[in-house]
Amino acid sequence: MSTDGKADGVKKADKPAILAKTRENLAKIAQWQEKLYADGREGIVFVLQAMDAAGKDSTIKHAMASLNPQGVDVVSFKQPSKEELAHDYLWRAVRALPERGKIAIFNRSHYEDVLVVQVHELQHTYQIAKRCLEDGDFFEKRYAQIRNFEEYLYDNSYRVVKIFLNVSKDEQKKRFLERIDDKAKNWKFSASDLKEREYWDEYQKLYERAINATATPHSPWYVLPADRKWYTRYLVSEVVLNTLEACGPEFPELPKEDKKNLAACKKILLSQ
Ligand code: ATP
Ligand code: MG
Repeated sequence: MSTDGKADGVKKADKPAILAKTRENLAKIAQWQEKLYADGREGIVFVLQAMDAAGKDSTIKHAMASLNPQGVDVVSFKQPSKEELAHDYLWRAVRALPERGKIAIFNRSHYEDVLVVQVHELQHTYQIAKRCLEDGDFFEKRYAQIRNFEEYLYDNSYRVVKIFLNVSKDEQKKRFLERIDDKAKNWKFSASDLKEREYWDEYQKLYERAINATATPHSPWYVLPADRKWYTRYLVSEVVLNTLEACGPEFPELPKEDKKNLAACKKILLSQ
């Protein structure tokens, strides 16, 4: 996996055309989402994973801007609460699943349980039976569990589409410095982000491992360059649009009886 978020072969001169294409995609996404909602037969989960300052929040704000809020849930996966830690790690992901017809955006996700947990070996701090830690490779098992979980969802009319915003280490530094220097961005900076940066290489390795172990035809991973926000937003809009097109929802056809009723109602309205 390239860790150069700029390795995308796109030039600054392409920006106006890319912005126009993004707008086009957003308009099409809005139309498809209405159908998805009306059809109500498939649910979609977009998983957003990234290193700090890669732009998860702004991606959600811009690339998903045309989605009707009524049909979208955005769920942030922070450090697990006491209640969450008292359950299996997929519990909170299951609770966050959307109804069919809706879209959920996971801002971080169950993948944290094979990323941050593995980097810091947090599994040893959890209250779980010893046998779970001793029997075979703990994280290999988790990759398989996640694969099975996502396949189970696919077989139950959900799609889980995973996006890794691949920011470079240099760009992260630049964005952290902006957050420190710009008063309006101070609130976005936390010293703990700097601490995690020390584990950069470890995270890159584990992202690669997780992606290779869990990318499947029904639940793909998209690794998107994330150093240029306007380009990242375009790529995310492509992923969202392609996913909706693959679902191919349709407006439900009314049963014959209901169609007759509509015609009768129209007659009444016109006569008033
Ligand atoms: P931002 O910093 O852009 O606001 P964020 O997603 O980094 O967004 P934070 O509140 O800064 O949000 O961080 C959440 C933290 O919780 C992350 O460092 C993440 O790794 C951590 N986290 C998420 N899930 C788990 C988990 N299962 N176990 C331990 N830590 C987790
Ligand atoms: Mg953070």
